[in-house]
Amino acid sequence: MAVLTVLKVPDPFLRKKVKKVQDITPEVLKILDDMAETMYYSNGIGLAASQVGIDMRLVTIDVSTEEKKSELLKMINPEVIGGEGELVMEEGCLSVPEIRDEVKRYKKVKFRYLDPEGKEHIAEDDGLIARVIQHEIDHLDGIVFLDRLSPLKKALYYRRLKKEAKKRKNELKM
Ligand SMILES: [Zn+2]
Repeated sequence: MAVLTVLKVPDPFLRKKVKKVQDITPEVLKILDDMAETMYYSNGIGLAASQVGIDMRLVTIDVSTEEKKSELLKMINPEVIGGEGELVMEEGCLSVPEIRDEVKRYKKVKFRYLDPEGKEHIAEDDGLIARVIQHEIDHLDGIVFLDRLSPLKKALYYRRLKKEAKKRKNELKM
C-alpha cells in the first residue's frame, strides 16, 4: 500500500467529473487500498479518487472516532438515489486546507454503490456517513464544498486559496 498525494484547490483535476468504473480489476482494488491508507494518514473521514488525481468513481469512508468504531467503506460508483430533509453542518476538506464552513445538505440520504467484490449495496443513513457521502460524490462530479457556500464567501475563500498556492510555489523556488 502507499500514501498518495492529495491535490489541493485550485488544482484543475479537482474540477473534473471522473469516470464510472467498468471493471473491478486488481488495479482498482489496489487504488482503493491506497486511498484508505491515504485517508487514515491524513486523518480524513472520507476520500474521493478525484482528490488523488485518479479518474475513477471511487470513494473510501471511515467515520470511526475514539469512542465509536465504524467500518471502512470502499465504494465503487457510489450514487445518491434519494434525499430527505436539510441539515447545516460545518465541513472541512483535505483538498481545501485550513478552511471550514457550514454547508447545507440533505439530512438523510439513500445511496447505492458496489463493494470491492462487485456486490451492489443500497443503504440509508441520516448521520455522519450521509454527510460524507454527499461531500465525496460532489468531488467525483468536480465540486468542492466551497462551491456550496454563498457567492461572496466562495469568492473570498478562492482568492485566499489562490494566494496561498502562489506563496507555496514561490517558497519551493527558493
Ligand atoms: Zn473533500
